[in-house]
Amino acid sequence: MQHAENEPRVYDYIIMGCGISALTAAKHLLDKNSVLILESYRVPGGNHQSHLIEGMEFDIGAICFNTTDEQFKHFPELLGSCIPKAVEVMKICTNGSLGQYPFDWHTEASSLSLAERMFCLASLLSCRFRKDRQDDARSYAQSRIGDFLYQRVGLDLYIKRLFGVDAADIDYDFALKRMQWLSRETSLRFRIGRFIRRQIKKIPPRGETVVRPPGGFGCYYEKALCRLRDEGVEFVFGEKALKIETAAGVTAVTTANRTHLAKKLISTIPLDEASGLCGLPETNLPTVTLLSLFVALRGSWLPDCSILYNFHKFGNWKRITVHSDFYPGPGSYDKHCTVEITVPAGMMPTAPADAFADVEAHLRAMKIIEGELVLIGSSELRNAYPIPEKGFKARRDAAIARLASKDVICLGRQGKFEYIPHSNVAAKETITTLEKALEPAELPQQREPAVVELRTELPPLPVAT
Ligand SMILES: Cc1cc2nc3c(=O)[nH]c(=O)nc-3n(C[C@H](O)[C@H](O)[C@H](O)COP(=O)(O)OP(=O)(O)OC[C@H]3O[C@@H](n4cnc5c(N)ncnc54)[C@H](O)[C@@H]3O)c2cc1C
Repeated sequence: MQHAENEPRVYDYIIMGCGISALTAAKHLLDKNSVLILESYRVPGGNHQSHLIEGMEFDIGAICFNTTDEQFKHFPELLGSCIPKAVEVMKICTNGSLGQYPFDWHTEASSLSLAERMFCLASLLSCRFRKDRQDDARSYAQSRIGDFLYQRVGLDLYIKRLFGVDAADIDYDFALKRMQWLSRETSLRFRIGRFIRRQIKKIPPRGETVVRPPGGFGCYYEKALCRLRDEGVEFVFGEKALKIETAAGVTAVTTANRTHLAKKLISTIPLDEASGLCGLPETNLPTVTLLSLFVALRGSWLPDCSILYNFHKFGNWKRITVHSDFYPGPGSYDKHCTVEITVPAGMMPTAPADAFADVEAHLRAMKIIEGELVLIGSSELRNAYPIPEKGFKARRDAAIARLASKDVICLGRQGKFEYIPHSNVAAKETITTLEKALEPAELPQQREPAVVELRTELPPLPVAT
């Protein structure tokens, strides 16, 4: 759309946030619409964030992708820059031994006495055939594996570490949707089907695991931005939306610097924040704050894995990712890792030094590390992910409907208040939501996906800036 030199431009869409949901939405819209992306951070990628400290690269969370992920269909250049990597994932079991994640039937079941095995079977059968209504994540999980195994494998501890609340307070439909792996792994029909498919080699290829290239997520996502810029999308970084007003079919998004105008708005920012900016009632939906400790080790990391989950009774941490396995440091330490600790809604995070002391004591007690462990940095990420507490859906859906009445489409992990575990899901759900919300005339024509060659070697580490 042409606009006069001195008149402010009215975009067809302003997208708030610049994470994977916003980038996918922009790609989907740009054929037939003018688009501005407005982001409060100074770099793209949303909550995919990297920190460079003393020449070592740390990410928030454990970040790996699969070559078949949806986002790569829209941004083949991202896949082209990724590096194939076999990523070993393990967990500390409730008995302190190391096992496979999420279940290690062998380690967890082999130590059961005969009496315990009988008890386990009885508990499984009684939970499977229980008639009372399942209305939370705990009863869902118990219905699949029985109460005895549920506690034995530490699923209760894991859910508590993930969301900061008991599984009994987590929504049932959420569990059904997001814990499908539990249904699959405990379905006799699925396991027999999988066995037969394996025998006749009919398992479809699942693609390869890849990680981002060295240089941090900002540089990685810059490749997607280059393409979007070439195709007409505009970007504003370092400006936080402070107010949203709609009049005469035009929405004005005001930041500390200026006002941006659009016919429609897409929000990937936290649902409560978007509601507040539009002058709508806030819903106070709870979210997890993630405290990430960046630690370096002179000595040995003993498990044979790069990602370790904590299913043990003790230890405040949820997951450790050994980033030096993907991005070697300058050599002053043997390993560097990010340790994740969830802070329940409404609580203040523990001081990083105190949280670190707890982590270190636990890792030593579990014989996970040997040598000197040093805390070299930390980060506190608010709204890291939503807490799907029982009864959240009605409040969430009402807030999304109120925003829709103001021509705001909600997308993404915080935007839709959806526990989206992976960018593959974020990209898929973005497309589904847009196809439902938009007129066919606004949607792009189908194109053939590009074929991409993967890099096979790690390029040299870029110089720190
Ligand atoms: C701990 C953790 C681990 C993860 N692990 C993986 C993984 O292994 N693999 C994987 O593929 N994905 C992973 N993810 C990514 C995650 O699964 C989602 O795919 C992704 O974060 C969701 O992207 P999004 O675009 O919906 O939202 P976000 O990435 O949350 O983006 C929302 C953006 O809105 C911006 N914003 C907020 N308020 C305003 C405002 N007022 N004005 C302007 N902008 C604003 C924020 O700055 C943010 O950039 C992980 C994420 C986390 C937090």
